[in-house]
Amino acid sequence: MKYALVLVNIKGLGVKTFSYLIPDEMRSIIQIGQAVLVPFGRQGLINAFIVGFSDYLPGDFKAKKINRILDETPLFSLKYLKLLEWVANYYCTDFVTVLNAALPMKLIEKNAKVEFSVIYMKDEGEGLTKRQREILQALKERGKCSLIEFEEQVKTTRTTMKKLADAGFVKVSEEYIYRNPLAIFKDIKTEPLYELSGEQITAYEGIRSKLKSPNPILLHGVTASGKTEVYFKLIKDVIDSGRNVLFLAPEIALASQLTKRLARKFGIKDVAIWHSSISDGEKYDVWQRLYKNDSKILAGARSAVFAPLQNIGLIIIDEEHESAYKQTNPAPRYDARVVARRLAQFHQAPLLLGSATPDISTYYYAVNNNNLFEMKNRFNNSPLASPQVINMQEYGKAAYRGIISKPLQSEITETLARKQQVILLMNRRGYSTYTQCRSCGTVIECPDCSIPMIWHSSIKKLKCHYCNREMSFPDFCPACGSDALSTSGVGTQKIEAYIKELYPNVRTERIDSDILTRKNAHIELLNKFQKGEIDILVGTQMIAKGLDNPNVTLVGVLSADSGFSIPDFRASERGFQLLTQVAGRAGRGEFKGKVLFQTYNPDYYAFQSAKSQNYEKFFETEIKARQEFDYPPFSQIIRLILSSQNNFRAEKSAMEIALRLNTMTDKFGFSEYLETLGPTPCVIEKLHGFYRFQILIKNKLSQKGHDFVSKFLNKITLPKDIKLAIDVDPLDIL
Ligand code: ADP
Ligand code: ZN
Ligand code: ZN
Repeated sequence: MKYALVLVNIKGLGVKTFSYLIPDEMRSIIQIGQAVLVPFGRQGLINAFIVGFSDYLPGDFKAKKINRILDETPLFSLKYLKLLEWVANYYCTDFVTVLNAALPMKLIEKNAKVEFSVIYMKDEGEGLTKRQREILQALKERGKCSLIEFEEQVKTTRTTMKKLADAGFVKVSEEYIYRNPLAIFKDIKTEPLYELSGEQITAYEGIRSKLKSPNPILLHGVTASGKTEVYFKLIKDVIDSGRNVLFLAPEIALASQLTKRLARKFGIKDVAIWHSSISDGEKYDVWQRLYKNDSKILAGARSAVFAPLQNIGLIIIDEEHESAYKQTNPAPRYDARVVARRLAQFHQAPLLLGSATPDISTYYYAVNNNNLFEMKNRFNNSPLASPQVINMQEYGKAAYRGIISKPLQSEITETLARKQQVILLMNRRGYSTYTQCRSCGTVIECPDCSIPMIWHSSIKKLKCHYCNREMSFPDFCPACGSDALSTSGVGTQKIEAYIKELYPNVRTERIDSDILTRKNAHIELLNKFQKGEIDILVGTQMIAKGLDNPNVTLVGVLSADSGFSIPDFRASERGFQLLTQVAGRAGRGEFKGKVLFQTYNPDYYAFQSAKSQNYEKFFETEIKARQEFDYPPFSQIIRLILSSQNNFRAEKSAMEIALRLNTMTDKFGFSEYLETLGPTPCVIEKLHGFYRFQILIKNKLSQKGHDFVSKFLNKITLPKDIKLAIDVDPLDIL
């Protein structure tokens, strides 16, 4: 092959492929996935990746030569590119968008330009080669210089530099040198796996008998049934057989907790971690370790599904119902569960999903494929707390500040007296949820997004939860000029304040995404809570997952209805899951737990099933509704959002697309199986200053329908001022 197809990442242009001539001396070593340097116009030498080869040029021009191979170890394989290509197709987006999301591209780009300080330290030493001495000599002469410059001038490699740094001859900047993200766990002592017992054995054996199944296997086990220990046993089997394991958790905090647990059981050497907040330098090195097959278990959040783990023998997705597995924005709007399924097929490995409250579709398929395994009791047989319902129609008036009912207060008091801990869930952040004029009724909305601005007492500002715009509290109503503006509605900050009023001498803390501005703040608070240094933890759904603290014996949900009232076909499912999960935090140890739900709708079916923690009952009702209205799993939803700063133009282009789509499906005679709904204004009509209209496509033709829609979408060209977002299998339709 004469030419290499390379991907470059150019500022302003994004990621694109170009052809370069392969110099003779590179022929024998060049490989797909290698990082190279190529000349690029006025920008000089830039970083690129080899993604293919060819004997011909795609046009009539003279190709430039590849300058050098930066690292002979490829960063990905052909198989890996195939996976990304599949993802691009499935999510109706282009390949480079997926590649951009998958590869730590920024890091490569950054390393090329970052000031690389090499501090020369000593040159006397045993076992230095002549070459290494030359490098040290060159360093001595230069002192500080950039990485690329230095590597270029001295013709050294990162690997060589690392060796010298490790041996203490030079000191290089942190960006450059390998830092193990697991270093914080280095003192962890390994301990043996637990012997499984009872239901765990049955589940384990059942799952083992299905490991050849091409379909996902579901482990449905109540909270604290010991699912994780079952996973560990399966992981042990897989790594003993010489293959590797990918283990996903829905978010970073849970992935870190999990990594710690894995390190304890399998030794830190074999475990790696991957998520969006490890640094670029760390990512680069984890990436290389994985590619060289130096780690056996990779734990991570959503994006870890794109890490180049080799020779996968098992993929586990814990808390598989979590919406955090789906990336909503920006594209690729991928679902790690869907990608993992494809990845598993590539490696002929099983995919194991686990949850106490499985996704309705996951459960449906698992039952139909006979791939469902259940654990109905907690590992230590401590009973699941059965939630008590506080009907706020009755208790609301006497409640403290209208929101903390008397029964909840007395439970809190008693729990604190027993020196046990309390979790209070309020699924809205901020202080109050809206600001209204008492004169004319106007609600203060974000000028760019059609949602109410929310009062944050901590920063004394109104804040938009969609675009983060902040503004001072207005003196007068913008509509009628009256000064009768007041805030109402309840958010986590208000609950925190009220609890501190009621219990001034108690250690109360709050966890919601507003505290995440400090890196790891969330993990630190959870650790403090775990150690018993916090008595009452107030928070959003962020506290509903993962906490395994045996001293928590009271869980209070202040406004249990809030999840159910979202205009979305998954609202009941989400509400049920949240309440069941948070209830599962209570009484996990030897003490019995109590759960209180405050609600204004005690009779709602999803609420009733959450109350009895009866998943099957909920599933039966819910699946009927899905079938009746052709929602997933009975159809695939493809959502199109047309947006523009001009309301009329957004609507017009949405109408045109819907019309064309309808004409096409009519022409092919399957409009009944490929239904187009809309356009309608989105529930959030305006976002970041853009008016939004949506078209929902219900595809009941599986692959064939998907292909039809994606072909149709490929042909669409839109005026510059109109944006189209395509969301395949959206998790919400707001
Ligand atoms: P889940 O993942 O279902 O929420 P875990 O696996 O975290 O549950 O188990 C809950 C608790 O019970 C954990 O503290 C765990 O270490 C303990 N546990 C589970 N299985 C066993 C076992 N076989 N032997 C001893 N302890 C166990
Ligand atoms: Zn007014
Ligand atoms: Zn806004």
